[in-house]
Parts: sequence; C-alpha cells; structure tokens
Amino acid sequence: MYEYVGNIHLHTEYSDGSGSVDRVVEAAARAGLDFIVITDHNTLRAKEEEGYHKGVLVLVGMELNYRCNHYLVLNVSEPVPSNDKDPQAIIDEVRNKGGIGFIAHPVEKGSPFYEKGLTYPWTQWDANGFTGIEIWNRLSQWRDGLQSVGKAAYLTVVNPHAALVGPYQEVLSRWDELLRQGMVVAIGGSDCHGVNLKLGPVKLGIDDYYLAFRSVNTHILSHRPLVGKLETDAMVVYDCLVKGSCFIAYDFFLPSRGFLFWAQDRHQTALMGQSIACKPELSLYARTAFPARVDVIRDGAVCWRSYGRYHSFKVDMSGVYRVEVWHELRGRFRPWIYSNPIFVVPQD
Ligand SMILES: [Zn+2]
Ligand SMILES: [Zn+2]
Repeated sequence: MYEYVGNIHLHTEYSDGSGSVDRVVEAAARAGLDFIVITDHNTLRAKEEEGYHKGVLVLVGMELNYRCNHYLVLNVSEPVPSNDKDPQAIIDEVRNKGGIGFIAHPVEKGSPFYEKGLTYPWTQWDANGFTGIEIWNRLSQWRDGLQSVGKAAYLTVVNPHAALVGPYQEVLSRWDELLRQGMVVAIGGSDCHGVNLKLGPVKLGIDDYYLAFRSVNTHILSHRPLVGKLETDAMVVYDCLVKGSCFIAYDFFLPSRGFLFWAQDRHQTALMGQSIACKPELSLYARTAFPARVDVIRDGAVCWRSYGRYHSFKVDMSGVYRVEVWHELRGRFRPWIYSNPIFVVPQD
C-alpha cells in the first residue's frame, strides 16, 4: 500500500483566503504534504493551476453555498451553482457530473468574538447521495473554542492546539448513524484561509497555511502509487476518497504515517471502506507508528480499548467497526487518528 498525506478544504485569494496558490504550495511543501485540494468559495478559478508544484499535487475543487449547508465538491470540471435552501439539488448535480461531495463542518458552535456567533451548519440531514462528511474542521473548531477573553487569548497566543479536541460527538454520532445504511466517507479539513489575526499591533499567524497543513490532514492509502502525472494521480486520490481508503490525523505532535487498520481471517482481508464476512477466526488489527491508545468503535459505541503500537481485537459479531486513536502528551491523551470503517457483515 502507498500512503499519501493531503490537506483538503482550503482557501486562496481566489475567494476569501489570503494566499496565492504559490504561497499555499510553498507551505504545503514545507509541511511535507503530498497533495492539497483547494476549495475556494463558489469558484473553480484555481483550476488552471492544477498539477504538480514543488513536488506537491495540487487539485482544485470548490466549496458551495453561503449561509448554511456548505458542501465541498471535488472532481468537477465546471462550477456547480450554489443552493443554500436545497442542498439535495447540489448533491444530485455533483453526482450527475461524476463529482465527489462532502458535507463541510456540519456542526459549529460559534464564538462571540467571530461574526457575533454566526455559524454555517448543515441543516438537511435527510439528504442522500453525498460521498461523505468532513468530520473534523480545524478552523471551525479553533474558532468555536474562543468563548471568553481569557480563552481567546490562550488559544490565540499560547496554545492553538488546545482548541482541537477531536471531531464533535454530535458529528460522530450522525456519521455512525449514517454508516448503518452504508458507506459514508469521513475526511478532515483545515479550512485554512491564511488570515493573520490582529491583536492590537501584534499579528498572529493562527490561521497560517504551514501550521494548518501540519494539523488536521487526510491520509489516503492506495494500491497504486502516484506517478507524477496530474490526470492519473488525481484519479488515485479521488478513488481513495470515494472508497474510504483514508483516515484523518492530527499530525502536529506525532506524525501518523504508517497507521493501518484492517480485518483479517485465514482466508480474507478487508481494509478501511471494505466489507468482510463475520467468520469464527476474524480479528481486527491496528498498527500505529508510536505507542497510543486505540478505541475500537462498533456501531457507534466503544467495544474495546488497547494500548501500544500493535492492536488486535477478536470479532464475534457483525457491525460497523472503526477506530479512534489517542496519543499521550504531557500526561494527557490527545486526539490523533480517526479511521474510516470496516463493515463486518453476517456470514451467509
Ligand atoms: Zn464553509
Ligand atoms: Zn471553507
């Protein structure tokens, strides 16, 4: 398997971001990313700059809608018009065009220090046909942490990472619920705008591209390597995202490269996004690059917990299994990795 690290969901000066594609690429290369997906608001203007720059594969999608129901659209060649009120229409149009779509930052808490608490939530949970959900959005969650002057100062000046507490439980519960009906792929995004926040005369690079690209990333696992050609490699990335052969990781404190989650018995193996029959000798395995705590989630509830680098769990019932991984930092566990699920189906 080939693993590639990417940052999905970010803005450039083609919409309300501050950086040119060049500046964004510079930061991505410095952060060691293999690919980025630029998703400016309601425009595909960056499309002309798709391709390899400084060794980074630059792909261009867009983020649709204004006041609510933000939707990330990938793999389309023409812009799709927004429709705040009827996101199902957008989902269907993207699908008809052969594109991929993710519900963006579905739950936001808002902050009194940012647009007077304004949020951009997803409201249409009866929608269907979307590829997946952005279960963890860096900028949105950082902003949600700004609840008092003291908290705002701490998260802005001292420790921005403290705001990043992992995907919201409401979002994970929605996702687990949807997974009962079939595959819904989870991704993470930075939503970086590269905007310097000003605190009096001091400029703070909290929404800095480089910092963001070392935080919430989406890692893809592919049987095919990237070969350095835009069209072929774009399909490798999109294929992994559609199938759910990917995981989300907060890479700042510990790089998560090397993480693997799979199910196996004597005759068959399943990776993230795949199904496997529930046979007597079936086990789930996880491998982490550093010692960590692994929580195995079955149908939305923790069913097993283990510590170390190699983890195995004997499966005795069917269900949707995924893992959440936490690493220790100064005596506390920090959210690190969120896998996509493996479906253990009844044996026929
Ligand atoms: Zn948005
Ligand atoms: Zn955005």
